[in-house]
Amino acid sequence: ERLEGVTSDQISQALFERAGAVIPGGVNSPVRAFGAVGGTPRFIASARGPYLTDADGNEYVDLICSWGPMILGHAHPAVVEAVQRAAALGTSYGTPTEGEVTLAEEIVARTPVEQVRLVSSGTEATMSAIRLARGFTGRPKIVKFSGCYHGHSDGLLAAAGSGVATFGLPDSPGVTGAATADTLVLGYNDLAAVEEVFAEQGDQIACVITEACPANMGIVPPLDDFNLRLKAICAQYGALLIMDEVLTGFRVSRSGWYGIDGVAGDLCTFGKVMGGGLPAAAFGGRAEIMSRLAPAGPVYQAGTLSGNPLATAAGLATLRGATDEVYARIDGAAATVAELASDALTKEGVEHRLQVAGNLFSIFFAPGKVRDFDGAQQQDTRRYAAFFHAALDRGVYLPPSAYEAWFLSAAHDDAALGRIAEALPHAARAAAEA
Ligand code: PMP
Repeated sequence: ERLEGVTSDQISQALFERAGAVIPGGVNSPVRAFGAVGGTPRFIASARGPYLTDADGNEYVDLICSWGPMILGHAHPAVVEAVQRAAALGTSYGTPTEGEVTLAEEIVARTPVEQVRLVSSGTEATMSAIRLARGFTGRPKIVKFSGCYHGHSDGLLAAAGSGVATFGLPDSPGVTGAATADTLVLGYNDLAAVEEVFAEQGDQIACVITEACPANMGIVPPLDDFNLRLKAICAQYGALLIMDEVLTGFRVSRSGWYGIDGVAGDLCTFGKVMGGGLPAAAFGGRAEIMSRLAPAGPVYQAGTLSGNPLATAAGLATLRGATDEVYARIDGAAATVAELASDALTKEGVEHRLQVAGNLFSIFFAPGKVRDFDGAQQQDTRRYAAFFHAALDRGVYLPPSAYEAWFLSAAHDDAALGRIAEALPHAARAAAEA
């Protein structure tokens, strides 16, 4: 039975078949493939403001926003113009440019870092920050928390180690035990485990890396003074705290999660918003640490396209457009959508838990508060799949996984929110019936 308002996906299906022949799984990043929710991913042909248009001509209200970057909405005139102007001047030189300096100044002005190095992806940023932390401290081990995602470099693909202070187990074939042997994986929000691992191996630990506010297992905010205590423990043992703000940076406030809880990492990583939808990311920190990077210091790090002129132009235009008013609008839109979704589910009697972090939120189809990855895994992902597809059929594009945050932009106006309000009751009913 085809519901009224159901979208068609014939052209997307044909494209997905073509893609599958030449691209593994048909996609260039796994979660795009709808593996967790089933069905055919929609191939997007264009986007404007809060809307995506797919190859079949369906329009969707976008609640992914490219997984974070598009805080001004799609094809924002100032960003498009900045990129066009930059492109006309040449797309890459392999030399320093003024745009890199200006973007670095903008990042330094908004965050606790004194210096930044620009790279092209969040993966590169965290990978390089870890190398720098090891180079600076002369220690081999790193601590990460299960459920926190920091990109796909080998040493950070360890998440499954159970128990305290066990060696991380590789999460993927191709990652050797040697690559993760120095990665200690702890449960998120578990300060006792952190204290214990430092008491045992503190002189071996170069750094703790954490998402400033985890958003890659759904939204799981740090409890009470978790970040503050991490910082104190790191300081006590001479380890560095790496605050990964690739996702939260310049999104949850003009200064990212730092603008909300005020805990400064010794090193911070950024990405997504600061590239305005082009490949740009960064890591930064105190000058004393950053000056250990080549060519100022001995820790090597480099990139042919690092600080690319189109990416810096898009990032600068986005950050300059991200005024206090923009953040207020995103906060308001996010609160509205979160409430609409939770109310719709409550009305249908669907057990769920809304978790909020500034203008980011996610809904767990689970009963209680989620404070770590084990808790996140208690959710009923079958219900989320039904919820997702009913929303998609009604023209609302949610993240195709229950473990992702929902992303709003300043372009999500009353018209877009109205469409979401119409779709969500259908989605909630589908979740109830799943
Ligand atoms: N860190 C965090 C917190 C992230 O959310 C992501 C991407 N979702 C990354 C690192 C990796 O960034 P990228 O996908 O640009 O490599």
